[in-house]
Amino acid sequence: MKDILADVGGRPGIDCRGFCRYCYFKGIRTEDPLGCKYCPPFKVGCDYCINRVREKYFGFVPLNMVLGEVYTNFKVNGGETIGISGGGDLSCYPDLLELTKGLKNIGLPIHINYTSGKGFDDEDGGEADSLVKNNVSEVSFTVFSTDRALRREWMGDASPDASLANLKRFCESSDVYAASIVIPGVNDGEDLYKTCSDLEDMGIKGMILMRFANYEEQGLILGNDPIIEGIEPHSVGDFGKLVTKIDKEFSFRVTGTPLWDPEAGSPYAIRGEDEMLRELPKIEKGATILTGKISAPLLSEIFDKISDKIEVVPVDKEIGCLITIEDIKKLSLDDIKETVIFPGRAFVHDREIEDLLCKDGIKRLIIRGPDRLTVDGEMSISMSREEILEEEKRALEELIRMINFYGV
Ligand code: SF4
Repeated sequence: MKDILADVGGRPGIDCRGFCRYCYFKGIRTEDPLGCKYCPPFKVGCDYCINRVREKYFGFVPLNMVLGEVYTNFKVNGGETIGISGGGDLSCYPDLLELTKGLKNIGLPIHINYTSGKGFDDEDGGEADSLVKNNVSEVSFTVFSTDRALRREWMGDASPDASLANLKRFCESSDVYAASIVIPGVNDGEDLYKTCSDLEDMGIKGMILMRFANYEEQGLILGNDPIIEGIEPHSVGDFGKLVTKIDKEFSFRVTGTPLWDPEAGSPYAIRGEDEMLRELPKIEKGATILTGKISAPLLSEIFDKISDKIEVVPVDKEIGCLITIEDIKKLSLDDIKETVIFPGRAFVHDREIEDLLCKDGIKRLIIRGPDRLTVDGEMSISMSREEILEEEKRALEELIRMINFYGV
């Protein structure tokens, strides 16, 4: 579905009534550029990998600018939905109601992409009612917990009654996907069951459980780990089991990120679909595929079924899209083939990764691969298994075309 973005800007911690204790943008210590696919060829650093990745806005974007941009975009490119996003919290955008009023004229359904509700003040849920009247049809709501005291303490939510009342009203008349960062010993035990039970009563459509990450290896790439001293996050395996358990227990759909989607079998749901794997283009050449630690065994399972020419090599980072040049530095070049394909969205500069992967004197061809090969729980929650399989098949076809063109 083609989404038109309405970006209202905003700064984490500032334009959301103070930092949540688990916010990944808290305590960023470095301004150094990471390098990425948007950087110019001879310079490490661009607006994306210096500013956007840190959600570095000057503040909220004025209403007229947001509206102007959406209208222009719609005229030029068309669209099927409008997604409101930002770097702070959408419920704190002072013109949210006016914005939806202005966007309503376009006549498309409006989605609110992540709000914690901290900016809502009406304990009768009136803000949600007004937004729904203005065509808001889908809301992603960061719940964390329905326990007021936990919301106060961990999210800095000064008005949890108003936040939860608005959440309830949204549930009554729009599709609500709740999201919760799960922190061991805080909101993962009985509290998670109580929260899910409250959300089931409210009528949410789905729940995205997000594994709390506290270390660089788990994906904190802005030099601010640990986010919370003394918290040991769930292992990926334990987290997957928790997602499955919650999914079995409740009537709404449950997915997890960085994994897993019990209903669809993703990430890489296609690994169990031998018929679909047979339909992929034949792999004619060899290559090393670099990826994250979570993806590597799953991707290997796929390639083991269809080719003996592909080596999948994990780097010391759980998530492929969050690979940085530091992870590449740690890689042994012993088993790396002469063509290497790395994740398209990895935060590395093309020239830097090329230098590192050829430092043993072997001239290797280093290629940036597709942006993604599968979908995580945040995306899959609103997709059917068929849609996920099609998406994965399309991405693997793109990867195989690259292998056959650049491989050895
Ligand atoms: S509301 Fe979102 S952006 Fe703001 S502090 Fe909490 S997690 Fe960070």
